[in-house]
Amino acid sequence: MRDPQQILQDTFGYSTFRPPQDEIIRAVSSGDNALVLMPTGGGKSLCYQIPALARDGCGIVISPLIALMQDQVDALRQLGVRADFLNSTLSQEHQWEVEQRLLDGDLDLLYIAPERLSQPRMLDLLHGSTLALFAIDEAHCVSQWGHDFREDYLRLSLLQERFPAVPRIALTATADARTRTEIARRLALQDARHFIAGFDRPNICYRIAPRHNPKSQLLGFLRSEHPADAGIVYCLSRKKTEQTAQWLGQEGFNALPYHAGLDAGTRADHQARFLKEDGVIVVATIAFGMGIDKPDVRFVAHLDLPKTVESYYQETGRAGRDGQPADAWMVYGLQDVIKLRQMMASSDGSEEHKRAEQHRLNAMLGLCEITSCRRQALLGYFGQDLDRPCGNCDSCLNPVDTWDGTEAAQMALSVAYRTGQRFGVNHLIDVLRGAQNERILQWDHHLLPTHGVGAELDANQWRSVFRQLVARGYFSVDIESFGALRLEEKCRPLLKGEERIDLRRESRQTSARKQTKTPLPEDIDVGLWEALRDCRRRLAEDQGVPPYVIFHDSTLREMCAMKPADIGQFGQLSGVGERKRDKYAEAFLAVIGAHY
Ligand code: ADP
Ligand code: ZN
Repeated sequence: MRDPQQILQDTFGYSTFRPPQDEIIRAVSSGDNALVLMPTGGGKSLCYQIPALARDGCGIVISPLIALMQDQVDALRQLGVRADFLNSTLSQEHQWEVEQRLLDGDLDLLYIAPERLSQPRMLDLLHGSTLALFAIDEAHCVSQWGHDFREDYLRLSLLQERFPAVPRIALTATADARTRTEIARRLALQDARHFIAGFDRPNICYRIAPRHNPKSQLLGFLRSEHPADAGIVYCLSRKKTEQTAQWLGQEGFNALPYHAGLDAGTRADHQARFLKEDGVIVVATIAFGMGIDKPDVRFVAHLDLPKTVESYYQETGRAGRDGQPADAWMVYGLQDVIKLRQMMASSDGSEEHKRAEQHRLNAMLGLCEITSCRRQALLGYFGQDLDRPCGNCDSCLNPVDTWDGTEAAQMALSVAYRTGQRFGVNHLIDVLRGAQNERILQWDHHLLPTHGVGAELDANQWRSVFRQLVARGYFSVDIESFGALRLEEKCRPLLKGEERIDLRRESRQTSARKQTKTPLPEDIDVGLWEALRDCRRRLAEDQGVPPYVIFHDSTLREMCAMKPADIGQFGQLSGVGERKRDKYAEAFLAVIGAHY
């Protein structure tokens, strides 16, 4: 067996493992099974790629992400790894060719789609080959509770039945305890070692703000912090993704829509441009992003509230895979809650399922409204403790001001009660502020004792009060009657004056980071940096691969700092393995040489 450390160095060009990579790789290389939970960008791929190279035979990677197989295989070939894939996009002849290579022992890694595994032809092929391991990527797809459930994943239990001697490693970035148990059960990994890496993504700065004027809020964020960066903007509806992309285009950004309603060609084109061009913004529904492993996504912005903390974490996790500073930015409003509850109510799941969804949405709302460190709350949700505030979220950077909202809350609750719990926020605010409009007169609401008692707060301030009361479960939103607010049991002590409540004071803008980040170190030679990027772009275009497949930004940055003078020094850079050294040293050394 080859030494994993040596493979890390020679093939991947990295000098050290990130814990717990080394432990996982040691376990799987020696034939043990493993279940791996690691955050996006944590370095899951090496956990199966290196054991596959260390052991005899070919590693079979089961992945639902057909669209990405080509990219993954391209990246491995760049490293000199004999990789290929089998999926429905290949011609018959091409498939036979790949199958033959597997039989001949000519492959280190083979990516296949899950549905293949149940085909007798595929099973025969696997039985006839030497197999190093099975890696089950995106293993949470086996969970019916998860949001990405895939029927085909259920059949993966046959791996244990048919190939008991081949080690299995299941990997995922998102799985709460319940999903983890389900993965272990369905993939027969109960006795396997479970590696649960920390969830934290310290380089991501989390910010969440109430939505006042989403366009100008987003524009302010992009202009001041990410004028030329690649990023993703998430919206709930298809229409909104298109409108937002078009509007960003008019504002001078390179923005493209992405949703399941676009034809396959357009989708593929937009995804490819996101991967291959610099500074593209994709405005997308959640249809976009699963498995996108572009390392230099600098921000993920949400214009609508995700349904669960899991989705929020997964979507924001697409930012900053390269470990460089990145932003998770979101604005949300009460309207989101109403819309999401509507969607949940009209879905055809069981009552139990709906209750679970409701519960998850409440947790998401809680995260939005907390006044303490967001990262502590986020990690806490996944059962991980962070012993002190993180220093890299909006609550930490701009501590939240709170005010005694007891009286305002009492007014809000009582106006809902006195109007029969049949009206939505806007009408209730009108009553509180003493408006005399037609609707108020029609219902005689100007005669109520609460009419006009809340004139000292403006409509936005009231909106914030209502939103926080909904988020904290004092009100529920009745979606059957157009967002009418109903009192929940929880509000009794508050109404009786036995409890007080502190509310978050809204600042008008979404707080910016204190230190604006410098994507490049101050002393970097910008001319050289641009020249190196040009060189990378040319090489990438020649081969039809994304630039980061040639080298990551971090490797180019090291080139600027170290200025290697010969091939030996070039080979020392992080991210430069033997194959890339031999293939690219000349071109990049020439750029560096010409610059001095
Ligand atoms: P995941 O699949 O967990 O989201 P990846 O496997 O794509 O993450 O790895 C994320 C990034 O980290 C990749 O660019 C990868 O090359 C890099 N990486 C992984 N392990 C190491 C390591 N030990 N040293 C340096 N970089 C690493
Ligand atoms: Zn914090």
